[in-house]
Amino acid sequence: MIKIKDIHKYYKMGKSSLHVLKGINFNVEKGELVAIMGSSGSGKSTLLNILGLLDEATEGEYILNNIPIENLNETKAANYRNNLLGFVFQSFNLINYKNALENVALPLYYQGLRKKKRQQIAIEYLEKVGLKDWATHLPSELSGGQKQRVAIARAIASQPKVLLADEPTGALDTKTSYEVMKLIQDLNEEGNTILVVTHEEDIANMCKRIVRLKDGVITEDKKIKQVLAKVD
Ligand code: ADP
Ligand code: MG
Repeated sequence: MIKIKDIHKYYKMGKSSLHVLKGINFNVEKGELVAIMGSSGSGKSTLLNILGLLDEATEGEYILNNIPIENLNETKAANYRNNLLGFVFQSFNLINYKNALENVALPLYYQGLRKKKRQQIAIEYLEKVGLKDWATHLPSELSGGQKQRVAIARAIASQPKVLLADEPTGALDTKTSYEVMKLIQDLNEEGNTILVVTHEEDIANMCKRIVRLKDGVITEDKKIKQVLAKVD
């Protein structure tokens, strides 16, 4: 599903440049649930943004769903993002003046679906994350965990090939974090390929593989025995 080879990223800083990713190699197969771990500043978001076509590597190869990613113009990148990828962020990134249903339905608009179909799919995915009864509520009327579940529904409603989550539990308390991880585990059990960036060991242990980043290099990449998220 994902193949990256010798990825480097430099950020230009005036006349100098910052070498943030220093030769990253890994592959992700369909159906994996991978944690990308590392302390703050280790390059996790930079890597995820490259995988998510939100940013470009300075050097290296990236193949997504058998498509070589190189010299994409913004239209093509947006197209691939809409059709292949789902995103979840620490800060939810919901649109404040749209209700839960409208937030989930919005990306489907960019897939060219008609309004009725968009609403039908949005309801279906809200139900999947346990929030059907909250469809008409604005983000400001939802708890943090509910907001993140709306964001997850929005990310998966277009049936992406890969779901990318950057610190999805970073703004949530432990109990709510585990509820969100339970949802992520359930989605993975249904066959979804998911990458979760986190700096929390307990969250990483709920995935099936841990890739550790330090100062822009992978220091460890191992399969683990998954801890199931317990919610009561
Ligand atoms: P993490 O997500 O692991 O905390 P990041 O990928 O956000 O790490 O950042 C890695 C390094 O790159 C940090 O030193 C950060 O300051 C720097 N960095 C991130 N984004 C930019 C940018 N747009 N321009 C310049 N430097 C950046
Ligand atoms: Mg980050």
